[in-house]
Amino acid sequence: MGLEAARARLLDSLSQEISDKRVLSAMAHVPRELFVPPECYRAAYEDMPLSIGFGQTISQPFIVALMTQALELKGDEKVLEVGTGSGYQAAILAELARWVVSVERIPELAKSAKEVLKKLGYTNIEIHEADRVLGWPSGAPYDGIIVTAGAPRVPQALLEQLKLGGRLVIPVGSRWEQNLLKVTRREKQNVVENLGGCRFVPLIGEGAWEE
Ligand code: SAM
Repeated sequence: MGLEAARARLLDSLSQEISDKRVLSAMAHVPRELFVPPECYRAAYEDMPLSIGFGQTISQPFIVALMTQALELKGDEKVLEVGTGSGYQAAILAELARWVVSVERIPELAKSAKEVLKKLGYTNIEIHEADRVLGWPSGAPYDGIIVTAGAPRVPQALLEQLKLGGRLVIPVGSRWEQNLLKVTRREKQNVVENLGGCRFVPLIGEGAWEE
């Protein structure tokens, strides 16, 4: 099957479970094949995670769509992504929000993500090498935060970077499997929804896992 047919099949399957039309249209628009290693080119539109080197992965398209939908983006938001990886999720966010800040702890991945996003012409994404503190506090507050690596608990440092009423989408559980949580920040008690099981590489850092 050619790439275009594979992309159409993937979009068709995503549309069975994802209702946000803006998310589906961003997924239709961003060329995932440019974010995967050349040897994975033909698998770019299979609904699965793929290796991007350094022991890391580009997430499964369904999970990207589910997490993005949970942010409820309307177009005017400033969003933080923790875990740039290939840069694919950052591109999806850039299609749907006003400004995207994305942090990555592996310098080589941050560099190649920057290159591909520049080549695609995105001007509303800034990528930083991650600091010791989770996230990017100097850009806070954010309307939404998406964490694309699994944490042992919801990190307080990230909640503090989120606006009141903002959404944090994060896999929480063990090093090997997690539940995808959507946390809406409220003045008194945050609202937590469980979006289902998932498997992510570990989030490394203060308030998360040891390397
Ligand atoms: N969103 C990515 C994409 O679209 O390709 C997939 C990210 S991959 C599943 C998880 C990434 O999180 C890895 O690249 C890993 O190096 C990064 N990571 C882990 N802990 C981190 C931290 N504390 N800060 C920033 N990045 C981190």
